[in-house]
Formats: sequence, structure tokens, C-alpha cells
Amino acid sequence: MFVGHYAASLAAKAIEPRAPLWTYVIGAQLIDIGWGGLVMAGVEKVRIDESLPGSSLDLFHMPYTHSLPAVIAWSLAAAVLVRMGLKLPWRAAVFVGLAVFSHWVLDLVVHRPDLELWFGGEKVGFGLWNYPVPEQAVEIGLIALGAAAWAWLRGRNGQALWPVLLFVAVLVAVQIIAMVMPGGGDTAGLGATAVAIYLVIGLIAWAVDRNKPAA
Ligand SMILES: [Zn+2]
Repeated sequence: MFVGHYAASLAAKAIEPRAPLWTYVIGAQLIDIGWGGLVMAGVEKVRIDESLPGSSLDLFHMPYTHSLPAVIAWSLAAAVLVRMGLKLPWRAAVFVGLAVFSHWVLDLVVHRPDLELWFGGEKVGFGLWNYPVPEQAVEIGLIALGAAAWAWLRGRNGQALWPVLLFVAVLVAVQIIAMVMPGGGDTAGLGATAVAIYLVIGLIAWAVDRNKPAA
């Protein structure tokens, strides 16, 4: 799951618009941003196995970002952080926390069993990555649903629809680039690339949704 995670960002924005879009966009990938940093630091581990279908990532060690207790901790921390740092209303802060948690739920669908239920415990994952075409269809379908929800909200509020179209176009472009990009390379570079892409998409989300939503 890559751009599909942003469906949760868009849905959260549609349901609770008082949080800026970028907090939902960074939130939905927060544990992957942490993962990229920890992979660069050599704390979490991944190897590239080109024989794997769908995604060539063998994510054999990522307890601090992708175990269930870790994700709960990241989600709570994010909610408290946006509440304190951005003075968001509690409900909006809770939705940012839910966006963070949604990452794990969507990862559960696509990952091969590499998500620990407890530190060092059983690993789960339904493995949709093993079926690349349906996997891509699910990601794009989720984005379409999230975008429709956000567009509906903006239309109802009399706001322009171009930010929805622009943001979705960026996501589709990123997904296509990710699909055709050659795999391989070193894993630290992989972590750095992931963090850079997530931050740039966060920046774009900030740029397209800068206006304060109507109270
Ligand atoms: Zn992930």
C-alpha cells in the first residue's frame, strides 16, 4: 500500500475538516516516515527480494513502527502533538490519530505477514501484494472514494474543486512513477527516498489546502 493510504487522509478531511489536510496526509504515512528514518539508522531492517510479487520488499524487522502496540503509541502521540502544537479541537486531533492508525489497517490488507501483533509476537498480513493487479486496483479505488468524499464536502461548502483534482493527479502520478521505477538499490537509500516522497506529498497537501476551513 502506497498512495492508497491517502484515501484515509481524504476521508478524514471530509468528515472532520477542522484539521489541515497536511496533518492527515503526513499522519496517514507517519509510521512509514518513521520506518524510513529507522531503516536509514539501521534500527529497522528490510531486504530487497526481486522474486517477490507485487512489492519486492521483505520487511523482516520493523517492531518500532509497524507492530500493533507501536502503531497505537504513534497514533496517540500524533493526536496529542497536533492538539498541543496546532491547537486543533480534540475531535480533529482524534481524527489525525485515526489517520495514523489507518496506516496499519491498510498495511494489514496488503502486507505479507510482517506486522507484529506484539513485540516479538505473531506476525500478520493478508498478502494482497501477492496479487499486484487487484492490489493496484484497490489502492486507486480507495483514492477515488476518498477524493469523492472530499470533493463532496468542498462542493457543499462552495469551495473550489481544483485542489481535489490537483492532489489526486499528484497521487496517481506518484503511483505510476513508483510502478515503473526499477527496484533494487541499497536499503538506506530506499528509506531516504520514502521519507522524501512522503514529505513532498505533505508539502503539496499544505499548499492545496492553506485556506482556513469555514468554522
Ligand atoms: Zn507501512
